[in-house]
Amino acid sequence: MKETKKFETESKQLLSLMINSIYSNNEIFLRELISNASDAIDKYRYLSLTDSEHHPLRNHEIYIELNKKNKTITISDNGIGMSKEDLISNLGTIAKSGSKEFLTKLKEAKDDINIIGQFGVGFYSAFMVASKIEVLTKKEGEPAYLFTSNGEDSYDIEDAEKAEGGTSITIYLKKDKDEVNYSKYLEEYEIKSLIKKYSDYIRYPITMEVTKSKPKLDKDGKEIEGKSEEYTEKETLNSMIPLWKKNKNDVKDEDLNAFYKEKFNDYEDPLMSLFVKVDGTITYDSLLFIPSHPPYNLYSDSYEKGLQLYSKGIFIKDKAAELIPDYLKFVKGLVDSPDFNLNISREILQVTPMMKKVSENIEKKICAKLKEVKDNEFDKYLKFWEAFGEHIKYGIYSTYGFKKDLLENLLIFKSLKDENNKYISLQEYVDAKDKDQKYIYYASGENVESIKNLPQIEKYKSKGIDVLLLDQKIDEFAIQMLREYNKVEFKSISDDSIDDASKEEKEKVEEITATNKRLLDNLKESLKGSVEDVVISTKLVDSPVCLSTKEGLSLEMEKTLNEQPGMSEDVKAQKVLELNPNHPIFEALTAIQDKDDEVKEYASILYDEALILEGREISDRSEFVKKLNKLFSKAINK
Ligand code: ADP
Repeated sequence: MKETKKFETESKQLLSLMINSIYSNNEIFLRELISNASDAIDKYRYLSLTDSEHHPLRNHEIYIELNKKNKTITISDNGIGMSKEDLISNLGTIAKSGSKEFLTKLKEAKDDINIIGQFGVGFYSAFMVASKIEVLTKKEGEPAYLFTSNGEDSYDIEDAEKAEGGTSITIYLKKDKDEVNYSKYLEEYEIKSLIKKYSDYIRYPITMEVTKSKPKLDKDGKEIEGKSEEYTEKETLNSMIPLWKKNKNDVKDEDLNAFYKEKFNDYEDPLMSLFVKVDGTITYDSLLFIPSHPPYNLYSDSYEKGLQLYSKGIFIKDKAAELIPDYLKFVKGLVDSPDFNLNISREILQVTPMMKKVSENIEKKICAKLKEVKDNEFDKYLKFWEAFGEHIKYGIYSTYGFKKDLLENLLIFKSLKDENNKYISLQEYVDAKDKDQKYIYYASGENVESIKNLPQIEKYKSKGIDVLLLDQKIDEFAIQMLREYNKVEFKSISDDSIDDASKEEKEKVEEITATNKRLLDNLKESLKGSVEDVVISTKLVDSPVCLSTKEGLSLEMEKTLNEQPGMSEDVKAQKVLELNPNHPIFEALTAIQDKDDEVKEYASILYDEALILEGREISDRSEFVKKLNKLFSKAINK
């Protein structure tokens, strides 16, 4: 029985692109179909090793057949095959996120189909070269089906006959047009070179009948000089050695990049790649990649971290989350170990001690690689940092500082002294600082500009002391987990407990505090509920006031925590209002310190001013303006 079904809307968009494409790089269709065939064999092979009763072992191969007369190419695999439902949901729908992303990017790129080569657009890409496609497929122990489509609007599915389980895809090539030559895909050498180019590492033999020639023999079996005859012989076109089994030095960058893009559905080359070979109590090979940009869904729930799992080259599981810590979830790659048991459930991998060991080891290798790139290829590291630096900080924070040794040397920060926002490492900071500088100073805020405008930073500017500028929300949380670097304590320049004033400065502050006790008490009284204390500051140069905080919870952290969904109670930083004793405002205040009522009125203006300088919202703008106006008229009337 023949049924006709419509493609879903998104599929139709992609199909119409493919069908109307005269994209010169349409050769990628072969790569896509072979990759699908290889995946299908992976799936069957796994079943035959874990459920051999229902899935007898097969000798796997991907067979390519060229038919010049009918102008067809057939690609056959003896993999898992598809049921009727599979055909509908896999080929009638865009299965792959890569294809969806391609459509989005295509819109951005103003319909420049040339970007297609960067994407894995899968099965549909065959419509770039095909006027019609037939998919004959059978799952083990189930009936066979034939799917037919010219890629336009709908497809047909009918019952069919097929002896062995697996899938045969036949492509009816489009007619050659002036500008595009489709019939080249009927040439053996063309197919051979495409297989070498795109599919050499496929682990199953890709075979084809290849035409060869031999000397022609006479009836006595002797060679006839100058005469030869043609014959065909099945040949394996790919070298089959999985890339990760090869020696790193024998793998060309372009092959590694192509492998990555194909396997992990990325359209850009990876930023870094890493071969790991371990021969010990546990033996494994691993090939790891750091993408050059965050995967599009990295921050959504749909993102699944994990490495592909193989045992002796046999695919077991796509995303083994156990093999990679959360903070490295952006890392892509695979692990192949003869020690992994094939029967570990594909869904739930038990975290065996062995898994744990492999995972810890991989984590160390990745961090070591990052450190190496940071030390030797800083520009590349910057790219990494801009894409994934936050995750490293998250790693420090989320493990309560336990990973300090592993991660602290990966950190880089923008700093006050560095005009070009070039970032420095903690080591560089510590090496550059004065011997008797007690702390590694940092300041936090929304962005570098606003941090540089903090009143507290004036002192460091004028003394030429460097300050790390923390402009990401996670920064301070991570720094607090570290506590110190090389025995030098971290200190926020807004921390009220900072102790870096000279003896004379301290004595001066004590003296001013004593003589202005009434003023300070009055201010404190008026700002009860808003600040814990009002003090004379050693932090300020030009600004009249600033806010510091107690107990390590800064204003920035207060804000971040209160933005977290599900916070039932407001988190409150303990604020201290600090006054600059050298500022004219302070002088004016001392002059009226007996007039308690007036002092009280100015208190809230000072507090609001401090908030504004810190880049915060004030609670009542109209009240602030009213008080300011009152001050104005007073001053003008004088
Ligand atoms: P992708 O392979 O990236 O998922 P495709 O559009 O190429 O996207 O294929 C969609 C789905 O169709 C595959 O995920 C797979 O389930 C199924 N499929 C494609 N080719 C084959 C094949 N040769 N054998 C079995 N299933 C296949």
